[in-house]
Amino acid sequence: MGLSYKQVFENNRLWAAEKKVSDSEFFKKLSEDQQPDYLYIGCSDSRVPAEILMGAELGEVFVHRNIANQVALSDRNALSVIHFAVDQLKVKHIVVCGHYMCGGVQAAMERKQDSPLDPWFDQVREVAKLNRTELERLNDVGERFRRLVELNVEAQCRNVLKREVVKEAIRNNGSPTLHGWVFDIHSGGLIDLDFQYDPLSI
Ligand code: ZN
Repeated sequence: MGLSYKQVFENNRLWAAEKKVSDSEFFKKLSEDQQPDYLYIGCSDSRVPAEILMGAELGEVFVHRNIANQVALSDRNALSVIHFAVDQLKVKHIVVCGHYMCGGVQAAMERKQDSPLDPWFDQVREVAKLNRTELERLNDVGERFRRLVELNVEAQCRNVLKREVVKEAIRNNGSPTLHGWVFDIHSGGLIDLDFQYDPLSI
């Protein structure tokens, strides 16, 4: 692996040329509008690129990524993305996607490092604290790690549901639908955690 700086532009030139061959109007249509059905909130990890995992084309997924796929209620960046996606783009689905072997979740499981990133990881530590009984029941560290990845996804789905813009859209239109996913980095598979909530009680 290793992508040279020069190669990036060569790859881009080839990609754009291929797109034009398959559809001469591709970039003309692309430049007109975006109407993505999905808002994807995932981890910044270089191994988890939303569009590739989903087999999605340009214009199909509105994306927000940060370390350990957080939706902190104090994070203006994440909240602006959610607001725009729901209010303007009227996405049909909101996905929070975590992944096994997530470095952010792993860092949260370890002792504080006195690093500037600690406040960010504290958010995942909070999820671990809230689910301590369940996590302590798992003897295997790897299993606990995987479970915390899943619990973190579900906690962030609940944070999405706390946003007024999301609640209002669900009340008025019955959508967007919330989904919690985990990308299994060992197999390449996407796992739907089947996140449960009652749209009628929102
Ligand atoms: Zn990650």
